[in-house]
Amino acid sequence: MSVLTNYYNVENKIKKITQRNIQIVAVSKYAKDSDVNSLYQSGIRIFGENRVENALNKQATFPDSHWHMIGSLQTRKVKDIIGKFKLIHSLDRENLAQEIEKRSEQKEVITNCLVQVNISKEESKSGLHKEEVLDFMKYLEDFKWINVKGLMTMAPFTDNPEEVRYVFKDLANLQRELINKGFANITELSMGMSNDYLMAIEEGATIVRIGSEIFSN
Ligand SMILES: *Cc1c(COP(=O)(O)O)cnc(C)c1O
Repeated sequence: MSVLTNYYNVENKIKKITQRNIQIVAVSKYAKDSDVNSLYQSGIRIFGENRVENALNKQATFPDSHWHMIGSLQTRKVKDIIGKFKLIHSLDRENLAQEIEKRSEQKEVITNCLVQVNISKEESKSGLHKEEVLDFMKYLEDFKWINVKGLMTMAPFTDNPEEVRYVFKDLANLQRELINKGFANITELSMGMSNDYLMAIEEGATIVRIGSEIFSN
């Protein structure tokens, strides 16, 4: 099937389970430019990449597209990306926040970020443990050039998605707790990938990051 059909299938599956407006980030990290182009030609503009270089190359190829940085971000690369991403999904440490703040101030742009949380505590995954997030949110309050829009997580890979439903529930609960503690602006929940996005939406996702279901055929 064409990538465009795949994309519309994802959209339709989402529409069947919710009336909420869910943002689909088409994750193009393994996609050919010609496949990205098929979506682009049909007006799809929101893409995600986990590597800075690839994202910057694709941005140049597809003008007016909006890019999300979904992969872990090295501090030394921050200077290259300020002003170029709609949203950074992977803010997970103090020195990264400091660098984003510094470079955003230099360029006078507000950088939208999500705080990445490692709910499952798998060692291979980056992100804060949920117990650390409140302190990190307080730490970020002093940063004038960083706008924290919500939280992001990745669920462990599993053959049985029900096993990871708790990951999405926990992130949604954490969001509610933080909102109750005064962080009213963290309205976004980026959770759910090809394997598990419908479940993530059932648990409150507002953004899903879909790669293989769109780009494989
Ligand atoms: C690759 C990637 C995705 C998309 O994964 P699929 O399983 O291909 O949908 C989503 N989020 C992150 C952080 C990724 O690195």
